[in-house]
Amino acid sequence: MDTLSFDRKELRDLLALFADQGLGSPDVCAVAPGRVNVIGEHIDYNGGLVLPAAIDRWTCVALKAREDGMVNLRSSHGEVEPVSFSVEDLAKSEKRCWSNYVKGVLAGLKRKGFAFPGFDAVVLSTVPVGGGLSSSAALEAAFSKAVLELVGESMEPLELARLCQKAEHDYADVPCGLMDQAAVILCEDSKLLLLDCQDDSYRYADFDDPDWGLMIINSCVSHELSDGGYARRRDVCHQAAAELEVGTLREVPLAELDAVLAKDFMDEEKRRYVRHVVTEIDRTLRAVDALAARDYALTGQLLNESHASLRDDYRVSCPELDFISKTAQALEGVAGCRMTGGGFGGSAIALVRRDQADMVAETVADAYRERFGIEAGIFETRPAGGARSWRC
Ligand code: ADP
Ligand code: MG
Repeated sequence: MDTLSFDRKELRDLLALFADQGLGSPDVCAVAPGRVNVIGEHIDYNGGLVLPAAIDRWTCVALKAREDGMVNLRSSHGEVEPVSFSVEDLAKSEKRCWSNYVKGVLAGLKRKGFAFPGFDAVVLSTVPVGGGLSSSAALEAAFSKAVLELVGESMEPLELARLCQKAEHDYADVPCGLMDQAAVILCEDSKLLLLDCQDDSYRYADFDDPDWGLMIINSCVSHELSDGGYARRRDVCHQAAAELEVGTLREVPLAELDAVLAKDFMDEEKRRYVRHVVTEIDRTLRAVDALAARDYALTGQLLNESHASLRDDYRVSCPELDFISKTAQALEGVAGCRMTGGGFGGSAIALVRRDQADMVAETVADAYRERFGIEAGIFETRPAGGARSWRC
């Protein structure tokens, strides 16, 4: 593929930054988008269905081979330092260093039998970092694509997504499902990705109505709770599945939910989590049908119900996300709004009429600033394409 099919300012800035580092021109470039989950939250690790889209924000990597086996990384992201290590030493750094994502990917490629040289790499990204939009998956996908391109190899997309997921598990200690990595690799323009996390099969759902868009509202907060909170819910869900003698909670039909919740071993916490998972899977399926019928009122209602379930049953929301969702839901031009991503901060997603998007953005930003004194990061996006790479 040539660079013309990714003719964007990010890429031009990246190439300028690469040259500024005295590195000349790169051998290869790769780009990967962030992602937003439209509906199906905290479902991927429960074997259910999720409906993400890639967003039109990109992590771009330029890379040039070196002969001395060293990997030198730089990023335009203001909060991280340059890092160097040898391709022979891909052990995880103890501290939470951004190089761990790259090392995890390189270790995965090595495990698959790919041999690669050292390299200089520069990263430039417009994906908000730590905003629940998967800048980490974008980083993993961009690096894995770039290194494969450098050595003239390729991998099947789902296999590549699993490699990136393992990097996130082993090198960033985030026990995530496959959704983020699958989304940033597999998504296509103007489509949502319906991923069945039971067997990793997927299909696309059109989102090509020119009148409607996805609005991302980044709360710009991240609450400490998130570390243990995610693992705790995952563990409780898996325990509930084991007690119910099913592989995952996906196998609990909505019609049997009440009977399941009445079982002896269901304590209050477990009951809430199971109820969220089972109803959220149902909402996701109904949202796909509603979108296919261009029934935005129903889709929006399902988003609103998803938020309530995440707030009250799964308890992964926070006052900021509750405020944003409630404010947006009340506006004309917004079909629905909910928190998206892992929660405890990060972003909300709203389904908006594009001709009202500016008004919605301004109203939510003003209200949020007044209530919390924080400037929300708001932008509208259409579903974008997935990660790609090319020789320069
Ligand atoms: P999210 O994936 O929701 O954005 P995470 O906490 O999972 O948030 O990942 C953010 C981390 O990923 C950052 O702290 C950093 O280590 C790494 N990262 C993401 N994007 C970049 C980037 N452009 N440059 C350097 N590191 C990045
Ligand atoms: Mg992440």
